[in-house]
Amino acid sequence: MAVKIIKTVREMHCAADRIRQAGLRIGLVPTMGYLHKGHLSLVRQALKVTDRIVVSIFVNPLQFGPTEDLAAYPRNLDRDLKLLDQHGVHLAYLPDQKEIYPGDFATSVRVAKLTERLCGASRPGHFEGVTTIVTKLFAAVKPHVAVFGQKDAQQTIVIQRMVRDLNLDVEIQMAPTVREADGLAMSSRNAYLSAEERREAPALYRALMVGQKMIGRGERRAQRVIEAMRDVIEPQRSAEIDYIEAVDAKNLTPVAELKDSILLAVAVRFGNARLIDNALVHIK
Ligand code: AMP
Repeated sequence: MAVKIIKTVREMHCAADRIRQAGLRIGLVPTMGYLHKGHLSLVRQALKVTDRIVVSIFVNPLQFGPTEDLAAYPRNLDRDLKLLDQHGVHLAYLPDQKEIYPGDFATSVRVAKLTERLCGASRPGHFEGVTTIVTKLFAAVKPHVAVFGQKDAQQTIVIQRMVRDLNLDVEIQMAPTVREADGLAMSSRNAYLSAEERREAPALYRALMVGQKMIGRGERRAQRVIEAMRDVIEPQRSAEIDYIEAVDAKNLTPVAELKDSILLAVAVRFGNARLIDNALVHIK
């Protein structure tokens, strides 16, 4: 296998320093593993803009709530490493939980406001877990560019804000959402869906398309668009809606009148899986 496995922070620092001393650029794709085509599209984007790609695989306990799916989160490291190898990834960074979070770990990175909305409202502490681990990954990997998915648009927007606020020297790129043929956004959590839930889950994408079309035809009342999206999702027997929102894409605040850049965002539970999806709409 050509992909090199790195398990300690010290080894990662040395590898990153060597790459930088050779005048090469480092691209980082952070993941929690159980890789799918969405993750691999981020790798492809990173390969276009940097010379050495690091994919981190770390199921970060800090971003899971006490009642969430940390223990059940799907894992398949052998398969992941084969996929990374096939896709030309240079380094797989697989840090150890004990080194990342020693018993007396006491530091965290928190972005205010942006993290209180959408997923932040139903997952308290989640984004603090994300921004803390991403800061630690940036410190270890020293990337020039880090690529995140639009699938988790709020996460990407929060990280962009963190990088700006803390003056971190890394460029954040957002890559488009990769979908199954029926529109369902690829996600490691799709593995939890029963056959019936899997049949119903593409309603998220259909709802976003309905919302986008209404805006395209001139609808500017957020409430109307949200109601139409709700009408697509609600009839699905196994769907339990967490939120359906239309927010300003910059600060994630809800808007009554749609203008400029809007993020249509949905979060819906199907059995054990909490699925999210979104569409960015630019209004002229
Ligand atoms: P995860 O392993 O779920 O934490 O995701 C790691 C990265 O992959 C994040 O930046 C996600 O936004 C991105 N990602 C996950 N699913 C998709 C998808 N279907 N399309 C594009 N990017 C994705």
